[in-house]
Amino acid sequence: MAEDGINSFMNGPDEQGRFGIFGGRFVSETLMPLILDLQARYDHAKTDPDFWAEMHDLWTHYVGRPSPLYHAERLTAHLGGAKIYLKRDELNHTGAHKINNVLGQIILARRMGKTRIIAETGAGQHGVATATVCAKFGLKCVVYMGAHDVERQAPNVFRMRLLGAEVVPVTSGRGTLKDAMNDALRDWVTNVADTFYCIGTVAGPHPYPAMVRDFQSIIGKEVRTQLAEQEGEGRLPDTLVAAIGGGSNAMGLFHPFLDDPSVNIIGVEAGGKGVNEQMEHCASLSGGRPGVLHGNRTYLLQDEDGQILEGFSISAGLDYPGIGPEHAWLHDTGRAQYVSITDVEALEAFQLCCALEGIIPALEPSHALAHVMKIAPTLPQDHIIVMNMCGRGDKDIFTVAKHLGFDMKI
Ligand SMILES: *Cc1c(COP(=O)(O)O)cnc(C)c1O
Repeated sequence: MAEDGINSFMNGPDEQGRFGIFGGRFVSETLMPLILDLQARYDHAKTDPDFWAEMHDLWTHYVGRPSPLYHAERLTAHLGGAKIYLKRDELNHTGAHKINNVLGQIILARRMGKTRIIAETGAGQHGVATATVCAKFGLKCVVYMGAHDVERQAPNVFRMRLLGAEVVPVTSGRGTLKDAMNDALRDWVTNVADTFYCIGTVAGPHPYPAMVRDFQSIIGKEVRTQLAEQEGEGRLPDTLVAAIGGGSNAMGLFHPFLDDPSVNIIGVEAGGKGVNEQMEHCASLSGGRPGVLHGNRTYLLQDEDGQILEGFSISAGLDYPGIGPEHAWLHDTGRAQYVSITDVEALEAFQLCCALEGIIPALEPSHALAHVMKIAPTLPQDHIIVMNMCGRGDKDIFTVAKHLGFDMKI
């Protein structure tokens, strides 16, 4: 099925947490016992029906799952080719897919007897989801956020504080997501006994990339069932498309289909102003090279000396300078294809979705939609595309207004 002796893409990673040459556990000796403990506890929880029963109960009654699989009829007709379905994860509580994973990690933290949850956040979406679930369970919550992002994302900072979280502005480095993640890792080592580190994407040392993927895989599992209900028993999507920051919503959609060779898989990175020499983009696969960051080996945006570069994108949720190691592996083995979309293209898709479907998408999935707009017209009408609408656009209306030159004071 797979190339180079891999007989199942769904079985990754190996025991060391490696996806081919990517992933792994590049952490200090002080962190190692915490990581191994977490791994043992997760391995146990993963096969415990009670753990999943608790997840499903909260997914249903707190998050609002399953999210609909929606046939976008007007968009399909407008593009005049493939039949387009949107997986409506923007309808989840807190407005994006992040909460799928946060619930899993916090239920695990409670089982481990942890009372203090720490998290890193860039745009603030993962911080809000974590603060939300901590409020629900009465857990102390500390969110590390780059000082620069604290300024740029004031509404989410306020949301987190309303929900009872402490937001710590990080001034080290450039004061962005990468630095926030470094500080969260440092906090974890210093506060071992009571603290659980809740990571927001398929990054970090093993077992995080696999664990976060497992929690997000509910997206793809639901798609499998829902598409069969709507299109007939056994009908699989022909193409899957999702936006990639660190890659968690994409892995969640892709993973249940990795061993179905008829399913084309496409990840869409943020091309910013274009994947160019000036590096004004966040396309780690299209414009980066392998290196080690935050405990794993993967493709990273870096300069000639290996210094990590800041990404650039209109969408704050996509500007992580790396990508989950499983994506790096799917890229190099050829199982998935990765493309990039510019800010301008994403803005066009954003407007089209509002006008044709009455759905205001987040800027992140607008990148995925922009790629759908490119390929759908070239495909036959019986070709089914499923795109993950991983977040709603309320948080982005001011950014969009600014770019379109719209006066918000009217
Ligand atoms: C955080 C976020 C992303 C990027 O994270 P992934 O781990 O790549 O999914 C994408 N879309 C939305 C709406 C987000 O909030």
